[in-house]
Amino acid sequence: MQDLSTQLIHHPYRAPSGFSGVNVPVHRASTVTFSSVAALRQRDWKHKNGYTYGLHGTPTTFTLEERIATLEGGRFCTLVPSGLAAVALVNMAFLQAGDELLIPDNAYGPNKTLAEHEMQAWGISHRYYDPMDPDDLRQKISAKTRLVWLEAPGSITLEFPDLPALIAVIKSHALANPKGIVSVLDNTWGAGLAFNAFALGVDVSVQALTKYPSGGADVLMGSVVTQDEALHHQVHFCNMRVGYGVAGNDVEAVLRGLASMTLRYRAQDASTRALSLWMKGQSAVAEVRHPALPGSPGHATWLRDCTGAACLFSVIFKPDIKQAQVDLFCDSLQLFKLGYSWAGPMSLCVPYDIQSMRQQAWPYPGGLVRFSVGLESASDLQADLTQALAKIAA
Ligand SMILES: *Cc1c(COP(=O)(O)O)cnc(C)c1O
Repeated sequence: MQDLSTQLIHHPYRAPSGFSGVNVPVHRASTVTFSSVAALRQRDWKHKNGYTYGLHGTPTTFTLEERIATLEGGRFCTLVPSGLAAVALVNMAFLQAGDELLIPDNAYGPNKTLAEHEMQAWGISHRYYDPMDPDDLRQKISAKTRLVWLEAPGSITLEFPDLPALIAVIKSHALANPKGIVSVLDNTWGAGLAFNAFALGVDVSVQALTKYPSGGADVLMGSVVTQDEALHHQVHFCNMRVGYGVAGNDVEAVLRGLASMTLRYRAQDASTRALSLWMKGQSAVAEVRHPALPGSPGHATWLRDCTGAACLFSVIFKPDIKQAQVDLFCDSLQLFKLGYSWAGPMSLCVPYDIQSMRQQAWPYPGGLVRFSVGLESASDLQADLTQALAKIAA
């Protein structure tokens, strides 16, 4: 008779197979066991037809990877612990000392910070380009350029770029560049639902699953998707070397969110369009940024390339509204909470100082507030905006 300590680990009971619930089981593993030494030696994790170690994937992570690849219209997906980790992984997978990367001036801020710190320290230089001017990108691409980041729309200021025009510039230079150039889209806003990134020609699409696919504001995760297998292997093998693993319970949370994602995206899109249009008519407001609003930069391109929009809009206040009043407006909001991130159930707002974040001159003297519209009733949210605007009018 084995000791109880042993029996509790090596128990002979095996639950009957054939269990079939709606949701994917949560497999959690560092160790995966093998039936024999031969099996251990033969096991191949590279093509997802076996299991070797938790970091290399479980049935739970493989399932989410396949669903995210489908969502994006791609073929291969690598999961990482956050959206920012996905940005970093792509940089590590494709760049070497001596290479240069190009980033839109209105990119997600931490993408630029990473370029200015670790990338710089590792001998990888960067330049910022104006994503609304393909000629500016053309002038900044050089023989050193190895990777070009794209983002649609830009972070916080929400200019919608002409992605096909930018990709055409990259492709025309890539032929002359001996090492080629990889185009990478931060597709968190489009999320695979507003447009198909690969149909527009991007090589790699990155998403913060933290946003729409999760939808819960309670989990961090990122994905890197490609259509090309060689590019996927470059990303995936790099990930196996740096060891960005994801936890089974977190993957389960994203799988649960993913089931309602298309409905949430559409519902939040409708509320966001209604609220941004309404805000445009308010006397304290100079301009509202939302790609679906006529007059917002890149609106015509959005109209041509997209079938939907995410839950973000930004309000630029008139110059006579001082920053202290903008802050009072934000503090007065009850349903819109102050907090980072977006695409969760709860509406959020953050005031930003754009000029401090950009190389290009920002021509607006008034303050800017970025809103993320949640799943609350749009009329309750409008009433909240109304009472907060009244505070600063008084
Ligand atoms: C949030 C976000 C990220 C980073 O995602 P995290 O999971 O928070 O690291 C990257 N890009 C964009 C556009 C984002 O909005």
